[in-house]
Amino acid sequence: MGFSSALQSRAAHEALIVRQDAELRLMETMKRSIQMKAKCDKEYAISLTAVAQQGLKIDRADEMQGSLISKSWRSYMDELDHQAKQFKFNAEQLEVVCDKFTHLSQDKRKARKAYQEEHAKIAARLNHLTDEVVRKKSEYQKHLEGYKALRTRFEENYIKAPSRSGRKLDDVRDKYQKACRKLHLTHNEYVLSITEAIEVEKDFRNVLLPGLLEHQQSVQESFILLWRNILQEAAQYGDLTADKYKEIQKRIDTVIGNINPTEEYGEFTEKYNYVSRTSPTTPLLFQFDETLIQDIPGKLQSSTLTVDNLTVDWLRNRLQELEGAVRDCQEKQLKMIEHVNGGSPVANGSIISNGSNTSNGIQSNKDSLCRQSKDLNALRCQEKQKQKLVDMIKCALNEVGCEELPSGCDDDLTLEQNFIENGYNNEQQISLSTNRPLYEEEWFHGVLPREEVVRLLNNDGDFLVRETIRNEESQIVLSVCWNGHKHFIVQTTGEGNFRFEGPPFASIQELIMHQYHSELPVTVKSGAILRRPVCRERWELSNDDVVLLERIGRGNFGDVYKAKLKSTKLDVAVKTCRMTLPDEQKRKFLQEGRILKQYDHPNIVKLIGICVQKQPIMIVMELVLGGSLLTYLRKNSNGLTTRQQMGMCRDAAAGMRYLESKNCIHRDLAARNCLVDLEHSVKISDFGMSREEEEYIVSDGMKQIPVKWTAPEALNFGKYTSLCDVWSYGILMWEIFSKGDTPYSGMTNSRARERIDTGYRMPTPKSTPEEMYRLMLQCWAADAESRPHFDEIYNVVDALILRLDNSH
Ligand code: ADP
Repeated sequence: MGFSSALQSRAAHEALIVRQDAELRLMETMKRSIQMKAKCDKEYAISLTAVAQQGLKIDRADEMQGSLISKSWRSYMDELDHQAKQFKFNAEQLEVVCDKFTHLSQDKRKARKAYQEEHAKIAARLNHLTDEVVRKKSEYQKHLEGYKALRTRFEENYIKAPSRSGRKLDDVRDKYQKACRKLHLTHNEYVLSITEAIEVEKDFRNVLLPGLLEHQQSVQESFILLWRNILQEAAQYGDLTADKYKEIQKRIDTVIGNINPTEEYGEFTEKYNYVSRTSPTTPLLFQFDETLIQDIPGKLQSSTLTVDNLTVDWLRNRLQELEGAVRDCQEKQLKMIEHVNGGSPVANGSIISNGSNTSNGIQSNKDSLCRQSKDLNALRCQEKQKQKLVDMIKCALNEVGCEELPSGCDDDLTLEQNFIENGYNNEQQISLSTNRPLYEEEWFHGVLPREEVVRLLNNDGDFLVRETIRNEESQIVLSVCWNGHKHFIVQTTGEGNFRFEGPPFASIQELIMHQYHSELPVTVKSGAILRRPVCRERWELSNDDVVLLERIGRGNFGDVYKAKLKSTKLDVAVKTCRMTLPDEQKRKFLQEGRILKQYDHPNIVKLIGICVQKQPIMIVMELVLGGSLLTYLRKNSNGLTTRQQMGMCRDAAAGMRYLESKNCIHRDLAARNCLVDLEHSVKISDFGMSREEEEYIVSDGMKQIPVKWTAPEALNFGKYTSLCDVWSYGILMWEIFSKGDTPYSGMTNSRARERIDTGYRMPTPKSTPEEMYRLMLQCWAADAESRPHFDEIYNVVDALILRLDNSH
């Protein structure tokens, strides 16, 4: 069934027009989507090129000469570049396809118009004749009535007139004859027009309309054919399984396949063998330095263990430990051999293969055998080393035999001296025996997090007491360094007394004193003995020492207050940490304090202390009166001079230079995280994201990254170095000169990122000195290694300021 037979009705004709409109719209939609696809493929091609370029930034120095893995990688990256080019080419072809769509839809529009006109034309002829027939018929009726009336009149006159003649009768007859003639003519015309109409209608239905529709069908079908061809072309340019891609993939597979572990180091080893003729490493000589003991008469002898009343327990403990370690090594070796042999230990310790047969299986089996025999060797060495120490101690103890142990010290004076030297001064011993509230004890560290505690306890016997909140209940914990770190929760008896495994005491202080003075282990299992209380450090302040005055800001973890230190009346800034935050967050909060503690620089905000005696935990810092730099810039945008702005840049550079020299990466440098004092001096603050490493790779996802301040390599690969801080410093300069504008304003984070990746950089803010803008651009170099270090930045800004000052 075709158009010609099925679509003759008026309704079908109109439906056909509507259908063509819908097709035109569909065509438009397709064209737009393909345009978008071309754009997106082009962008992908650009990113892929960037990937290949990044991948090619490999060390070309001699070290990797002859390396197959490095060569394969280079070829791999070249192939990625080819792939990018292919993508670009295909995207351009897709644009051509879009043009074809434009032409097709133009042609289709023309065809639709032609069809409509042709249909109207043939229908018009039929309509015209239909009207004619109606008109002729009504004429016919009119003449028929006139004829009938005149005929009646003529008959009446004819009957009445006796002679069938006379003037009146003649007149009537004449009129009747005329009417008769008219009627007959009209009749004939009506007959002719009906006949013509019948013919035209027949032709319309049988010839013209079917012809038009048939033609129309063929026109539309040829459009569909073209349409299909265009779509095929579009699909072809998006075909990722096309031969071109397959070839590239094949080449990539081949170059990676070329990596050959056994050949990888061939050239390298040959070169070194040739260049340096490396011989096996010369043995290092370890010797007891005799000069150490030359002033000590008798007691201590070179390379010999000293056994006396001071050391015997220690030696016995050590012996036990070492014997344990030897047993450990032996057990591990046995287990390893059993594991490798599928459960059957082999007498001589050799390892039998039980690997699979696939090529990878063989390789990994070989690797794992190799690794296991290496591990086994390491264990054997360890066992031998420890055994040697065991033998040495045993021998020394045996030599003493049942004799009374020699006294290690001759008099009490030396003993006291030792205490002082080791930091156990008498005062501490006394402080331990006073009975003040627990939180006032010097060795009570409040809610100091466990990591901090562990950092404070370094030698066996070091201990402190702290508080921990578990399930909203406070628990007091005794932390001791004893073969690692042990933490004991103070148990409460039904009567409200306190104990570990020994007797109960009315207060925690008494319990701790008992443990300390009795020198009994806290628990039998741990054997931990309390030897030296570790007191709060200078920066561990008491919460009660701080009086909060007014809120001056809001931080991520809680409010920031202006406060006063009771002891010194010093005005300070205090960051508080909301009590409801989970422990993990509290640790993060204190991270800033831990980092700041070590720094002392006029352009780095100073830490005064942390308060962890009780909740809320707080960080106490120097009060910087101007508050946040960002707010300051915005508020004082009219009053700031170029000289002042440059001074701010120099301060920030000085602070950052200091941090860089300490291997500290700030990771969140921005105007909002700097403070400014009343002399416009800028101090770097907010070390919540900082890391003390030369390079820091983010592994836990990129939550809450300040995208517009962060360097591309950190965003793309999570790789942070001080050069990333340099990038942020460039943005900070921009903020200073734009007086607190938002960078990349009007762009979303992802848009800004996209544009930066394709080379966009912010224009210079109004009235920024040219050299300063040049410096910003250097800080924003895509290649991190091309950015200046803070030392250089500081020198440039300092020189510019000097020049400015001299010119006035
Ligand atoms: P967080 O690190 O928790 O985000 P911020 O360091 O950003 O907290 O501090 C929030 C606000 O508190 C700052 O914008 C600033 O206004 C104020 N502030 C913080 N530290 C000080 C300080 N040492 N002196 C003066 N104001 C400060």
